[in-house]
Amino acid sequence: MRYPEQINLPYNRGALPLGFELLSGPVQDDADLAHWVILQGRHLVLAKSEGQPSLPVGQFPKGLTVLQGPLTFAYWRDMPVRCAQIGEADILPDSLVAEPFVSFQLRVPVELLTVAGVGKQLLHADLHTAFCHRCATPTTPMKGSWGKRCPNCGHENFPSIHACAIVCIHRENELLLIRKPEWPKGRFGLVAGFLDVGESLEECAIRETKEETGVDICNVRYVASQAWPFPSQLMVGFIADYAGGDIAIGDDEVEEAYWFPVDDLPILPSQTSIAGYLIEKVSQKLREPGSKS
Ligand SMILES: [Zn+2]
Repeated sequence: MRYPEQINLPYNRGALPLGFELLSGPVQDDADLAHWVILQGRHLVLAKSEGQPSLPVGQFPKGLTVLQGPLTFAYWRDMPVRCAQIGEADILPDSLVAEPFVSFQLRVPVELLTVAGVGKQLLHADLHTAFCHRCATPTTPMKGSWGKRCPNCGHENFPSIHACAIVCIHRENELLLIRKPEWPKGRFGLVAGFLDVGESLEECAIRETKEETGVDICNVRYVASQAWPFPSQLMVGFIADYAGGDIAIGDDEVEEAYWFPVDDLPILPSQTSIAGYLIEKVSQKLREPGSKS
């Protein structure tokens, strides 16, 4: 296996459609028609169609309450692309449908998920930089950037992206998988957690594994990363070797943890997530004849 490697998982810019021009900062946009990334709670609003789902195009649909935005963040097919958050109780017109953003990943083209994910993350950043982090004065946009400057104290407020380590651990031909209480029974994933102050990502992977499962790991190697706009994370993917210890669940974040043989894995995250990608990558390698790691 070669590390690191480039991947175009959904939400990474490399998975944006051909010809999609992502802006480097806000622009004056008075166009009549646009592509719309409409967010409703944890759902994405799409145009109903016989074939593949698509973003609504044209004027903003009538009767919807805009809670945040619209924010123009790109140009595509000669039109601006705008993102807006609408009221959760809004009734959609018959031409639109709200779908869960994450769980239906496989039904929606990767390119479309990525457009919506980037818009979602920028809208989140826009909201969270509206007031100065230092003195709470309303901020003003900085030219050519998604950052905002404070007219009172001069502090520059940039979008916050939170790093998380996620790690696929193996012991001979077995993988260590966990299930969080909120996940359905029988559905397992990988150990993951937020980076702490003064910690490398490798240290984060080691600490989270110990806290969640009681297991020690070593030889932590970077594989790939994925932007994760729920609301603003970067998932940094590693694989690691088992170093010692028995499974002992250490916190409330994990309900079950087991070693699964690669030939008998439970229900797994979609391969459009970094978790699914890492599991598949390591499993493939372990299934190769004569493979030890
Ligand atoms: Zn300020």
